[in-house]
This record gives sequence, structure tokens and C-alpha cells, in this order.
Amino acid sequence: MGRWAEQQVAGWGRYPSTTALVARPETRRDIEAAFKDREGSPVLAQGMRRSYGDAALLKGCRVIDFTHINRMLSFDEHEGWLRCEAGVTIAEIVDVFLERGWFPPVVPGTKYVTVAGALASDIHGKNHHVAGSWSDHVRRVELLTANGEVVTCDRATNSDLFWATAGGQGLTGMILAMDVRLGRVRSSTTASDADQVPMIDVETIRVPDLATFLQVSAASHQREYTVGWVDGTARGRGTGRGVLMRGDWSAAPRRAVRRRAARASMARYLGSGWLINSATIKSFNTFYYRRHIRRATARTVDADRFFFPLDAVQGWNVLYGKRGFLQYQFVVPPGGGGDRVAAILEAIASSGIAASLGVIKEFGERAHGGLSFPAPGITVALDFPNTGTRLLDLLDRLDDAVASAGGRVYLAKDARLGRESFRRMYPDWSRWKEVRDAADPDQVFQSDLGRRLGLVGDAS
Ligand SMILES: Cc1cc2nc3c(=O)[nH]c(=O)nc-3n(C[C@H](O)[C@H](O)[C@H](O)COP(=O)(O)OP(=O)(O)OC[C@H]3O[C@@H](n4cnc5c(N)ncnc54)[C@H](O)[C@@H]3O)c2cc1C
Repeated sequence: MGRWAEQQVAGWGRYPSTTALVARPETRRDIEAAFKDREGSPVLAQGMRRSYGDAALLKGCRVIDFTHINRMLSFDEHEGWLRCEAGVTIAEIVDVFLERGWFPPVVPGTKYVTVAGALASDIHGKNHHVAGSWSDHVRRVELLTANGEVVTCDRATNSDLFWATAGGQGLTGMILAMDVRLGRVRSSTTASDADQVPMIDVETIRVPDLATFLQVSAASHQREYTVGWVDGTARGRGTGRGVLMRGDWSAAPRRAVRRRAARASMARYLGSGWLINSATIKSFNTFYYRRHIRRATARTVDADRFFFPLDAVQGWNVLYGKRGFLQYQFVVPPGGGGDRVAAILEAIASSGIAASLGVIKEFGERAHGGLSFPAPGITVALDFPNTGTRLLDLLDRLDDAVASAGGRVYLAKDARLGRESFRRMYPDWSRWKEVRDAADPDQVFQSDLGRRLGLVGDAS
């Protein structure tokens, strides 16, 4: 024993919260020893716990935290292939490689996620329309499997396991290391330009409704990064109003602006002792929309500001109070001129439960099946303060609308989806489970999300 410590654990939404025995290995040998010494308990790998709900939780069992397994092992300067351990974070990759002209192929809205968490959720970013998701840029994974063996998976060897692991939420085994291909950043900055890092040229366009958002988004497909902020409280003609940002790496080298002076206006707005609830959400959303008085602006900003604005507000998730919050992210296929998304946004806005400023993005064509989330269509992510049954009832209704529209919700953000809705949304689930069960017949790898959705154990 000794290596396992009981801990209260929760995801980023702080709902639900549970206890587990957690080990924090520092070497591969420690991982293997912890795995052997789990006394027959089910086990789960955990990264930075930036998944929102219960994907990284396993109540009353054993959890292995990979955040100290974070060595970069090799880098191919010509092709951009980085071999690194599972717990290396996107923040660490950016710190080391951006000034050398390389950037992770896909980044989420926070840089505090591990590469293993990125693969286990098959994350998407602002460049999904041109770059697909994380797994599109991984060629090889080392996985500790249920029988204690380490296997290598890629597109040719153990390919079923490779694809089941991409988006598989930690349920196929423990990722030890991977090869991920970094993207070359278009910029004239070179490694010898001290103090200079590549920047992003960004245009910000205010959009009064969803139809305009879709028009501007369609006209921006050749841009490397696009994303919108959507006001989830706006209704009627204003449904889908917000701000669309589109950006490309700047060709001009710039001196890096240190972040402190530029901290997001949101940080100032939030202030101290401020709690997020329906009234404050509505006023913040309106403030944010009106702040963009001019229809369009253009600036050059640093990568942190463009990709990870929320990271500037440390620990913002606690602003939702003790009960935490839930994020609801869905994608629905295109078609109907955005009617399905508009109907869902309208249902949210008229429910009386305020969703804080959300993210909206048009995904590209690439999709991987299994439990991987991204699929062609429009994705929207909205945060809701946890108001209990009223909110859960609303989200159940939204599940039905999303599933009926041929869409799905993102498991990395989920804390409450029911089995039946899940199966409608992820029709490939039973094939995924066959691959998982073949690799783990004794159901060694489990999670609270996996149990809830019938992904582990008896599927009935
Ligand atoms: C502010 C914010 C913005 C975000 N924006 C986006 C976004 O734009 N796009 C997007 O796709 N996601 C986004 N996310 C979600 C986030 O990218 C994913 O939840 C990601 O999986 C978190 O990685 P993590 O290291 O924190 O993993 P955790 O949350 O700790 O774990 C997530 C899953 O990965 C598994 N896992 C972790 N380590 C291993 C391992 N070594 N082996 C096997 N499985 C493992 C866990 O079991 C769990 O199922 C955002 C999250 C936050 C908080």
C-alpha cells in the first residue's frame, strides 16, 4: 500500500464529486506497480481533470493520476513528430515548441489538458474544419492493457484498439505514451528571434443572429481557425446572436505581449466575490455582445489570448458556487439552414434557466465513429449553473431534440446523460464495446461515466 491515498475528486464542473483511492506514479515502473497492487479493484487513468463531469471519476475504486508521467521523449525537427509520455500537457508543448515555430495540431479551450486526455476524448479545436480532431494527428500509442501487457497500437497494428482508444474515455486501457504530430506555424519568427513568438491575426465579427453566423462561418472555411461566442439567453430574432472570430498565424514576427496587462475583460467583470447565477449571466452576455460595438475589428494577439482566454481567469469554475455547473455540448448535422440549432437555442432561452456565454462552431467533414464526438454539423457548448431537477429536466428534453436531429452530446462534458439517449446518439456504441470487451474481458477499466452509460459491465 502506501501509494494509494483517499481523495475527494470531481471534474471541472465540480459535479458530481466522489471519493477514490488515487495513486500518483512518477515512472512507468510505478504505474505498473500501482496497477498490480490495486487489490482486484477496477481502475481508471486520470489526467488534469478538465473533463467536466464523471469521465475521469471512479467512485470508491482506484484511480491512477498521470500528471507526473510527463517527459518529452523525442522530436523530429523535419516532420514535427513528438513522442511524449501521457501526462505531458498542451501548455508544456506550447511552452517548449511555439517559439521554435511548432504548435499542437489541435487545441481545446484550455491548455491544461494532457495528451492522453486529449486522445481519450478525441478533442477538437477551432481548426476542426481543416484539421479534424486529435486522433487525426496521432500515429502510435503505447497502451497498458487489462492483462498488464503494454501493447503498441496504430492504424495497422491493433487498429481496432487504436480507434476504440480515440474518444474511448480511458476505458480501453492506460495510455503511457504517444507520437503526435505538431503543426508548423506560418511565421517569419525563427528560433534565434529572442523574445519573439508567433502571433495570430484575428478578425472579430459581431453577428446579430444564427443565420448571419452561418453565413460568415461558411465564408471563413479557408481560415485556419474559426469559433463563435453565442448568447444562450437571446430569443426570437436574436436567437444565435454573438461574435465570430477567425484567425490565422500572422506572417509578421511580433514581440510577445506579456499576458498580465491584457487579461480578459471577463476577469475584470467577474471581480472578487462574484457568483454566477441567472441574473449575472444575462447581464454579462449582454455586456459581452454590446462590447463589440463595431461590426468587425482586426487585431494581432498572442496564442494564449486567442486559444485559451479562460485560462487567464484562474479557477473560474468555482464561481458557480458549491453545487458546481454542467456544460451541455452537442453537435447536430447541418441542413435546414441551422433550424435545428435555432430550435434548441430557443428552447434553452425560453426555459428561464440562463446559460452563460457559449461557444459555437461549424465542424468539418471528418468523423471517426466509436465514441469520438466530432461529426459534420454545428456544435454548441453552454454552461449552466447546477440548479438541480429543473436543469436536469431541461437537459433531458434537449437530449431528445439533439438525438431526434441525428446529433449527439460530448461525453467529455457530460455528467448525466441516460443510456437510452446515449445509444440513439452513438449508434456505433455496441461495436465499440465489443472491441473494448475483447481487450478487457474482466472489466478492469471502469469509470462512473462508463457505468452510467452501460459501456462497462453488463450492457443491459
Ligand atoms: C475550459 C475548458 C475548455 C475546453 N475546451 C474544449 C474544446 O474546445 N474541445 C474539446 O474537445 N474539449 C474541450 N475541453 C474538454 C477537455 O479537452 C477534455 O475533457 C480532455 O479530455 C481533458 O483532458 P485531461 O488531461 O484533463 O483528462 P481528464 O479530464 O483527467 O480525463 C478525461 C478522460 O481521459 C482519460 N484519461 C486521462 N489520462 C489517461 C491515460 N493516461 N490513459 C487513458 N485514458 C486517460 C480519463 O480516464 C477520462 O476518461 C475543455 C475543457 C475545459 C475545462
